[in-house]
Amino acid sequence: MKRVIIIGAGPAGLFAAYKLADKCDVTIIDKGLSVEKRSCPSPDSCIRVCELCAKLYGEGGAGLMSDGKIIFSTEIGSFLNHVDGVGEKKNAVLVAEVQNIFEQYGVHAITDTDKVLKKQVEEEAVRAGIRYVHTTLAHVGTDKLKSLIQKFRDDLIQRGVKFVEKQDALDIEKNGDKITVSTKDTSYECDNLLIAPGRVGAKWLEAVVKKLGIEYQYNPMDLGVRVEVKRQITDRVTSVSRDMKFQILTDTYQDMVRTFCTCPGGKVARETHSEGYNLVNGHSEAGDPHENTNFAFLVTIPFTEPMANGNEYARRIAETVRELGGDKPIVQRLGDLRAGHRSKSKHVLNYVVKPSLEGATFGDIGLALPHRILIGLLEGLKKLDKIMPGVNNDETLLYAPEAKFHALRIKNADPFLQTSVKGIYVAGDGAGLSRGIVGAAACGVLAAEGMLQN
Ligand SMILES: Cc1cc2nc3c(=O)[nH]c(=O)nc-3n(C[C@H](O)[C@H](O)[C@H](O)COP(=O)(O)OP(=O)(O)OC[C@H]3O[C@@H](n4cnc5c(N)ncnc54)[C@H](O)[C@@H]3O)c2cc1C
Repeated sequence: MKRVIIIGAGPAGLFAAYKLADKCDVTIIDKGLSVEKRSCPSPDSCIRVCELCAKLYGEGGAGLMSDGKIIFSTEIGSFLNHVDGVGEKKNAVLVAEVQNIFEQYGVHAITDTDKVLKKQVEEEAVRAGIRYVHTTLAHVGTDKLKSLIQKFRDDLIQRGVKFVEKQDALDIEKNGDKITVSTKDTSYECDNLLIAPGRVGAKWLEAVVKKLGIEYQYNPMDLGVRVEVKRQITDRVTSVSRDMKFQILTDTYQDMVRTFCTCPGGKVARETHSEGYNLVNGHSEAGDPHENTNFAFLVTIPFTEPMANGNEYARRIAETVRELGGDKPIVQRLGDLRAGHRSKSKHVLNYVVKPSLEGATFGDIGLALPHRILIGLLEGLKKLDKIMPGVNNDETLLYAPEAKFHALRIKNADPFLQTSVKGIYVAGDGAGLSRGIVGAAACGVLAAEGMLQN
C-alpha cells in the first residue's frame, strides 16, 4: 500500500484523506491540537496565552472556528480555474464532489432564494456599476462546526487514517523515491506527500519550496477593513445571497474592492498570529442571533518588481496597526475617519452600531492604512450604498486590519497539483490555490486523485 503523509488537518488535508482512505496508508500530521482540545480561552479579546492560536491551528484547520459558510463556487474562494491543466470544467466537477461529501454530513445548500428580489439586486448592481457574483452556499454556524468535523475525523479514523497532533513539520527531504518529513522529535517516510498547511503555514511553505527548488509566483495582496453595520442595512441583500459578493472598480486608482465573508447577525472576531500581528475576521452562529452584520471589504493590489511579495507589505501594515492599537485591532466610526480624527471609547454609548468585538482599540484607521487603500474603501462604500442604503453612513464601524494573505502560488507540474518534485503535492490556502473551505477541499480531492493515478 502506498504511504501518504499529509501536512495539515484543515479542509484540504481532510478531504484528501477522505478520498485516499481505504486505498492508501494515510497519516495526517498537524502542529495544532485535536478537535476536542481546541478551545479559545478568551474568544472576544485575545490574551495571547496560547502557544498556538486555537482558532487557527489544529484538526479542522482555520475553518473549525469559522462561520462555516460553505460556498459551492468555482470562482469564489478558489483559484483552481486558473491553474494549468485544471480549469473551470474540472473545478466544477471537484466542487460538485465536495458538495456531495458535505451533503453526506447533513450540510445542504440554501435553496429558498426569493427570485424576484434576486433579480432586483442584480439590476441595482448593474446600475451602480458593481459586479455581483451570486453563490450557492450552506451555513453551518460556528457553534455546529466542531461536531461536524469531529464526525468527519472519526469516520476517517474508522477507515484507517491516522491523525497525529502537535507535530510541527520542520523540514522535507527527497532522496530517490522516498520523501522524509522531519518534526522536532521524529521523522515520517512516505511515497507521496501532500503539503496543506493553510495560511498560517504559508511562510514556512515558502521556505520549503525555495529549498526544494519548486517554482512559484506571487499572488496579489488583499488589504482593507471589516465593516460592521446594523443588520437591517444588509438583511435585504443577504436574504438573497447570504455571503453577498460585490466587486467594485474604484474611480481614482481603478483597483478592485470587494465584499467577502459576510456574517449576517454575527460578530467580528480577532485572529492572533504567532508571527506577531492580529487580523480581524467574522463569524456567526446558526440562527444569526446578533444585531449586527459584518463583512470584509478588501482592496486587491497585484505587486510587481522590485517588491513582488505583496503579502510582506500587508504583514508590515498589520504590524503597524498592532503597535497603534496596543496589540489590539483598531475600530473607528466611518464618520470619524472622514472627519480626520480618531474614535474614542467614551463616545461608544452614543453609537448606533455597538462594536461586537470587545477587545478592539478605538483609534484612527487613517494612520494605519495607506492612502490608496483608504481611498479605495471610501469610494467602494459610496457605490455600495446604492445597493445597501445606509452602509456609507457615519455610524458604520470599520475594523483594521482585515487582510487575506494568499501566500505564494506554488506552480504545479501536472493537473493534479503535483509540484516539480515528483511525489510532492500541494493544496489549499497555504499554496495560494484557495481562500475558502470548499476551494481548499477541492484542492485536496484533486491532489488525492493524482496520488491514486500516478
Ligand atoms: C476566523 C475565520 C473565519 C473563516 N470563515 C470562513 C467561512 O465562513 N467560509 C469559508 O469558506 N472559509 C472561511 N475561512 C477560511 C477557511 O477557514 C480557509 O480557507 C480554509 O480553512 C483553508 O483550508 P486549508 O486546509 O488550506 O488550511 P487550514 O484550514 O488553515 O489548515 C492548515 C492546517 O495546517 C496546520 N499546519 C500549518 N503549518 C504546519 C506545519 N508546518 N506542520 C504541521 N501542521 C501545520 C495548521 O495547524 C492547520 O491546522 C475562515 C477563516 C478564518 C480564520
